[in-house]
Amino acid sequence: MPVDDVMPDHTLQPLKTLAEQLPGLLFQLHRSPGGHMHFPYLVGSGRRLLGVAPERLAGDASLAFEQLDETDYPRWMASIERSARWQTPLMGKFRLSTREGHDRWIAVRAQPEEVESGTLWHGIMLDISEQVAEEERLRLLSDTDSLTGLANRRKLLQRLDEEISLSNRHALPLSLVILDLDHFKHINDSWGHLKGDDVLINLAHYIRDLLRREDFLGRLGGEEFALVLPLTARGNAENLAERLRERIAAHDFALEDGKITVSMGIAEHRVGEDRNRLLERADSNLYAAKHQGRNQVVASR
Ligand code: GH3
Ligand code: MG
Ligand code: MG
Repeated sequence: MPVDDVMPDHTLQPLKTLAEQLPGLLFQLHRSPGGHMHFPYLVGSGRRLLGVAPERLAGDASLAFEQLDETDYPRWMASIERSARWQTPLMGKFRLSTREGHDRWIAVRAQPEEVESGTLWHGIMLDISEQVAEEERLRLLSDTDSLTGLANRRKLLQRLDEEISLSNRHALPLSLVILDLDHFKHINDSWGHLKGDDVLINLAHYIRDLLRREDFLGRLGGEEFALVLPLTARGNAENLAERLRERIAAHDFALEDGKITVSMGIAEHRVGEDRNRLLERADSNLYAAKHQGRNQVVASR
């Protein structure tokens, strides 16, 4: 029985206003046993996000689903299937590309009900784009070194773990380079800590611009950086490190006198080896490079 028949007008009007002004939308989604879906009920100011007139969606929900991102689409079809089969709530989020060209993130919560004609979901959708953007901002902050803008130690080690597990699984080559500025304390002592900071920033950007996209550079801490080189055996890592070393030694970092040099230790990952052991081997090669006079590259045999 329609709501209008049982509720007096003075109760109904605020409800209608609420539904129209709602910052999101309320919906019913119906699916027949044959799989045809439509939105028999759709209210709220969020309707315009769907970009299709509600009257058309009342006949065919696929007009809305077609706008889903190509990775979201199969995921949502599977979720709908599961929710109908097990009568569990439908929940999650999806991205919508709007006509203005910017993506919006929409959260969905809906409860299924078995009805004679199939399944009927009762639910809400809310635009959560600002919340998703804030989460992304915080995630970036927690992964980024605030001085250089490179990946921080946490992110770097996480990436190294991922590459080690790939290397273990598929026996792919993987190399790690640890790079440390030579006599950096002297730079701080001579020109001050701020100038030292500038050197770290400039060096970080300089190295990053010399790398391939798949190479991963991060700041391990202090004046120490690490390079994770996937699909790279020791010989190639040595060539790359040697090229970096020469370029850095020749580059003008705007110091009044003297140049900057770096020492590097390299280790190629051995199948089955854990992260700490790999770091240790690269580190002991770095130590050897320092010990042998700095401004050089040492790789494990
Ligand atoms: P070596 O050639 O043996 O590596 O000598 P070094 O002077 O580079 O090494 P040491 O470990 O003696 O000193 C590292 C210095 O780096 C000391 C520390 O104050 C400085 N440092 C670490 N982090 C920062 C930073 O974020 N900014 C600046 N300006 N200096 C830093
Ligand atoms: Mg140093
Ligand atoms: Mg150091």
